[in-house]
Amino acid sequence: MNIKNNLILALDVGSEYEAINICEKISDNIDTIKIGYPLALAEGLEIIKKLKDHFGFKVICDFKVADIDATNEKICEETFKAGADAIICHGFVGPDSVKACLDVADKYEKELFLLTEMSHPGAKMFLQSAADEIAKMGVEMGIKNYVAPATRLNRLQDIRNIVGEDAFIISPGVGKQGGDAKKTLEISDAIIVGRSIYESDNPKLACEELLK
Ligand code: C5P
Repeated sequence: MNIKNNLILALDVGSEYEAINICEKISDNIDTIKIGYPLALAEGLEIIKKLKDHFGFKVICDFKVADIDATNEKICEETFKAGADAIICHGFVGPDSVKACLDVADKYEKELFLLTEMSHPGAKMFLQSAADEIAKMGVEMGIKNYVAPATRLNRLQDIRNIVGEDAFIISPGVGKQGGDAKKTLEISDAIIVGRSIYESDNPKLACEELLK
């Protein structure tokens, strides 16, 4: 995926009004938006097309898909039918569930991101011990795109070592969660930033600060 400035906005706001307002301010700096449950539940999946048509953005749907294969397939179908360019699925559910997502992404010629380790402190309790195996599973399945944390650079590096230099890694956790943009981008292909941009009094300046 080609991402302007290697910077993805996590647009976790609760209304279309807020979303459009922020996007108008940052559209010179950013061309890829990650939406998740906050905005999709508030406004419906139609928000995907609105963001694409209005701004020409690429939209990654962070639905952390984590169900049985048959249900994952339906979730991915609805998401890609609504115009998403990519979807994020959890890896801990195992290869059958992940394959269902991959097959739908391939059918629509869109992208699947496999979530390895999450960025928040709680991820250390259960997910961290499985993350290397999740990344290895992704490699075995031929998955090209991964999500790995900016908050623990040693773990980001471990996952990079497993998935290889040709894989595409995007990393949340910069800013509010404590991760550093520059250091993360030495390992990762793009950073995902939410609150540090959309809660800023000057979202455009916040982007520029991150890109320095
Ligand atoms: O506001 P902040 O910059 O912390 O937002 C980070 C975004 O990345 C949120 O949308 C969060 O749900 C998401 N995310 C994360 N850690 C992961 C996967 C996704 O923080 N491992």
